[in-house]
Amino acid sequence: MDQGQTNEFENFDKQFKETVNRPQALCDTCGRCCKSITTSRTHEELEQMAKEGKEEAWVFVEFFKRYPSIDEARKVVPEQVEQVIRELSLNKDFDINKISFYYCPHVTKDGLCSVYETRPYCCRVAPRHGWSLMPPGCGFEGWQFEEREKTKSSVRYIKEYLQRIESIYSNDDDIVPGQNLTVKELREKLLKKIEPWEKYGSLFW
Ligand code: SF4
Ligand code: SF4
Repeated sequence: MDQGQTNEFENFDKQFKETVNRPQALCDTCGRCCKSITTSRTHEELEQMAKEGKEEAWVFVEFFKRYPSIDEARKVVPEQVEQVIRELSLNKDFDINKISFYYCPHVTKDGLCSVYETRPYCCRVAPRHGWSLMPPGCGFEGWQFEEREKTKSSVRYIKEYLQRIESIYSNDDDIVPGQNLTVKELREKLLKKIEPWEKYGSLFW
């Protein structure tokens, strides 16, 4: 494994980490992401998870406020509600009755966060990556595009590297020099790296 490969794999790993540096200056403080929060879990599931002490559920149950209905959310952030519903409806088990939207009571009239220093983890890491569903026209749009391209490029790199290895070594038990892994182990490791991106289409990159 040469230095170039090491850097490429390290960069790729960083894309999974949620502490990646986001250029916060890109946020134009429209405040819409704080008024159109949703999750793939139902509210009942979140309540149960919150009882079990799960922080990611607690914020929905205790910290954010639930809109009484999707129509109420639509009045405030129509474009984001439509976008989210459009994306979720691509899932075969989509059920609109299971979706809830939330807003945060801590967003100011100017779109600022009044609890910035102590904001929850999910706010600190948003947008998580290039595919995070931010409201249309969000200041991070260009950044998300670049992040998507970087991820695709890294996935392609890994696939090409794996293909090279498999063309050199015909036996799964061969040790790959510099990796200290068999071909089989290396394949499993690399496929695991790209697995989280399958839902975004990585099989075709
Ligand atoms: S939607 Fe984008 S631009 Fe608007 S407040 Fe959220 S992060 Fe900032
Ligand atoms: S805590 Fe701050 S950043 Fe998070 S949703 Fe509320 S206002 Fe927005």
